[in-house]
Amino acid sequence: MQKGQIIKALAGFYYVQSQGQIYQCKARGKFRKDALKPLVGDYCEFSIENEVEGYILKLLPRHNSLIRPPISNVDQALLVFSAKEPDMNLLLLDRFLILIEHLHIHPVICISKMDLADEKHIHELLKPYEDAGYQVIYVSSKQEQGIEIVKKIFKDRITVVTGQSGVGKSSLLNALDIHLQIDTNEISKALGRGKHTTRHVELISMYGGYVADTPGFSSLELQIDPVDLAHSYHDFEQLSKQCKFRGCLHESEPHCAIKEAVEAGTISSLRYEHYLTFLKESKLLKEKKYG
Ligand code: GDP
Ligand code: ZN
Repeated sequence: MQKGQIIKALAGFYYVQSQGQIYQCKARGKFRKDALKPLVGDYCEFSIENEVEGYILKLLPRHNSLIRPPISNVDQALLVFSAKEPDMNLLLLDRFLILIEHLHIHPVICISKMDLADEKHIHELLKPYEDAGYQVIYVSSKQEQGIEIVKKIFKDRITVVTGQSGVGKSSLLNALDIHLQIDTNEISKALGRGKHTTRHVELISMYGGYVADTPGFSSLELQIDPVDLAHSYHDFEQLSKQCKFRGCLHESEPHCAIKEAVEAGTISSLRYEHYLTFLKESKLLKEKKYG
């Protein structure tokens, strides 16, 4: 029995990477009945039949999983936002951060198209995020700025690259690997927009890690329970331990550590306002769901 990681699923086969070798594997019958089907990203135990083939026998526990793309054990999300065209939208950035952190995926904020932007202004906008402990990478694919830093963060991790259409994800992936030279339209297709269904899922080996060829979210709706939302941001989670009430929603409760931090200026009031907007949405969704 050998341990490996599924890096590709195609037409009923799983491609398992183990000690530098790739084995084409079938899952042994019982998985078909199980609700727990193998996902790309899963670590597994498998038997080796010959040099290139094997059988998956057991899946190891997952750290997390995404529905779209269907992959597991995602370590981080490179969250791409453009400095301009389209303009920075901090409300949307916060929404993405909530969604990502709620899934226990480490977010890395990547600000693209820096060549078009007033640098000082952009750095000011992002300062509250850096202060909150988020890594922010400023890049220009056009001027090859910041590209080396992006390469470094891929190492030893599974990364999904996500962000709105048009922010420059394909251009960034192209800038990362001059040999890749993927037509940006082709990448857009591969990134799973439009009617493209992702039956073929693959992790692309890049700079010592893996990158998923599709982004993470089909819906940006906050289907998150209000109590979970209240500590989805990593810095809120830390601080909320000091709130007087367990399950504090940082709204109108007394002795709320989050509200105190906003008053003291250590949490930006804009991020807090966004949080309140999301809280309202999350409560409404919950009401709709349970009547
Ligand atoms: P995607 O939809 O996120 O994959 O975005 P694309 O990579 O297709 O880029 C969308 C548009 O932004 C294209 O017209 C690109 O040429 C442009 N773009 C992407 N990166 C940069 C950049 O670093 N600087 C500038 N000026 N334009 C960029
Ligand atoms: Zn609180």
